[in-house]
Amino acid sequence: MAARIISGKDIAREIRDELNERVASLAKDGLVPGLATVLVGENPASRLYVGMKNKAAAEAGIHSRQVTLSESASETELLGVIHDLNTDPQIHGILVQLPLPRQIDESKVLLAIHPDKDVDGFHPVNVGRLATGDPNVLAPCTPRGVIEMLLRSGADPSGKHVVVVGRSNIVGKPMALLLLRKAAGGNATVTVAHSRTPDLGAITRTADILVVAVGWPNTVTRDMVKPGVTVIDVGTNRVDDPTRPRGYRVVGDVDFEGVSQVASAITPVPGGVGPMTIAMLLANTVEAAIRLGKAGG
Ligand code: NDP
Repeated sequence: MAARIISGKDIAREIRDELNERVASLAKDGLVPGLATVLVGENPASRLYVGMKNKAAAEAGIHSRQVTLSESASETELLGVIHDLNTDPQIHGILVQLPLPRQIDESKVLLAIHPDKDVDGFHPVNVGRLATGDPNVLAPCTPRGVIEMLLRSGADPSGKHVVVVGRSNIVGKPMALLLLRKAAGGNATVTVAHSRTPDLGAITRTADILVVAVGWPNTVTRDMVKPGVTVIDVGTNRVDDPTRPRGYRVVGDVDFEGVSQVASAITPVPGGVGPMTIAMLLANTVEAAIRLGKAGG
């Protein structure tokens, strides 16, 4: 059996088309969602990510503003920028691109962003809202994207056993909390595995849906999944490939060739979860704008 491919590229396009329409209709009522991205330093990957996010925002009709600080910027300077954005009525979403230079305490910065403008969903208030099942939470973009992929590809997690491999604050933990919610896209029975899980295969073989967010190629192989499983591969890893002009290619955490012989559906890497993350950032920005707009903010 060759698995059906769940194309994040196609689903993200569908979501972005829907958002375009939503933003156009909000504009008629005088509300233009605004996203501010804050970049500190010269990290080339961070510059690339921020550029992609701003481009996507502009394409959706979202007002986007990039604030760039030098590598030597102080924590006080960055906190001042966030304070200004928190009180700026044109800005509804604030994203500080991580990692930050060493002199800046990341947790202090994330705590300074107003929770209602925290479109990355990393503020402890939003983590708490997610844990308590608050429907108005701004949930982290990557796991939120995974839920959308499952729902839109006909793999509703409700009533299913979902195994999440990875327990990071950015992917694994919020993923598990979203799947547990008593709401659309939730109602799953959830098991979370990590690096201290002995015999990972014994756990992953019990999954109806398997979400893998580890950061290591081939962590999940064909013998570790049960026939008919739906597999979502969050991993993004560079492996050497001298046949490619750049000398490398990007692969996920799952052995795609082997697992796709057994699974009923699987996401590719690239073109899987990656494009969903940006689509969900836009969705969070639009939702934040609507809520802040209603609140008169
Ligand atoms: P982290 O490194 O923060 O977390 C990795 C998790 O995997 C940890 O919980 C770790 O366990 C667990 N782990 C490591 N090795 C194993 C193993 N052999 N068996 C079982 N569990 C293991 O990574 P992130 O969660 O931030 O990211 C995971 C992957 O997803 C990365 O490849 C990243 O690039 C990708 N990613 C992709 C995104 C996208 O948009 N496509 C967005 C975000 C991330 P422990 O806690 O015990 O250390």
